Amino acid sequence: MPELPEVETTVRGLERVLLGRRIERVEARRPDLRRALPEDLGQRLTGARVIGLRRRAKYGLIDTDRGDSLVFHLGMSGHWRIDPGEIGKHDHLVIETDAGRRLALNDPRRFGSLDLVRTDELGAWGPIAALGPEPLDLDARELKRRLAGRTAAIKLLLLDQGIVAGLGNIYVCEALRRAGIHPMRRGGSISLERLERLVPAIHDVLEEAIAAGGSTLRDFAAPDGELGYFPKSFAVYDREGRPCTCGTVVRRIVQGGRSTFYCPRCQR
Ligand SMILES: [Zn+2]
Repeated sequence: MPELPEVETTVRGLERVLLGRRIERVEARRPDLRRALPEDLGQRLTGARVIGLRRRAKYGLIDTDRGDSLVFHLGMSGHWRIDPGEIGKHDHLVIETDAGRRLALNDPRRFGSLDLVRTDELGAWGPIAALGPEPLDLDARELKRRLAGRTAAIKLLLLDQGIVAGLGNIYVCEALRRAGIHPMRRGGSISLERLERLVPAIHDVLEEAIAAGGSTLRDFAAPDGELGYFPKSFAVYDREGRPCTCGTVVRRIVQGGRSTFYCPRCQR
C-alpha cells in the first residue's frame, strides 16, 4: 500500500515528465475508481499546461494553467506508469504530453481516486479540508495540543488523518519504535519531553524513505518505469518473531483492525 514517501516519490517522478508540458490527450478508460471520475476531466485537462506538482498528505496534486488541480490518491494498489509499452486493463487514465510522453494511472484494486478541483478552492475541498497538519511540518507542542485529553492508544491517534495527515501503519510503527513509546500508551498521557523524541522520529523515518525513493528516480527515464515503489527495511514493521536490535523478539498486536509491530523492551 502506498504511503506518504511513495506518494512524494511519485509526485517528484511525475514532475520530470509533466512540469511545463501541455497535455495533448486525456483518456479516462472507465467512469469510476473508488468514486466517479469527473465527467469533464478530458475537456478541462486537454490543452492545459502543467504548472506545478505537489503532495498533500497522501494526495498528489497536478496544477494546470487553467486554475484546475487534478487530485489523485493511489488507494491500495495505484501507481503511475511512465511510457508504458502497452495500455492494459488496469490502466484507468492515460495522459499524453506535447513532448510525446505517455503516463498511465494503473490501479488493479481501484481503491484510488481522481478528482478535478479548482486550485484556489483546494483548501476547502472536503477530503483535504478535513486533514490535520503535514507530519513533516509538525512540532511537538502542536502534537501535544492535538493529543490533549485523548485516551485512545497513541498508535491509533497517529493514524487519525485529522490529527496528523498522511501517516500510515508502517511509519507509525517505526517512529514509535525509534521514540521508545509503547503503541498502546494513551495519547493524551504522553509528556512533551517524549513527544519531543517522537516528532523527530516521525520526520526521520519519512525523510529516510523519501530519500530512498528519490534515489530510485533515475531509473524512471526507462520505458515501463513504475513510479513510487522501492525496497525498504524496517526495525519492527512486519518483523513479528524476529529480533529487535536490542535482541528482544518483536511482537505483533492488532489495534483498530490493523497489525502493530513493536519491541516490548525498547518501547514503554
Ligand atoms: Zn528492542
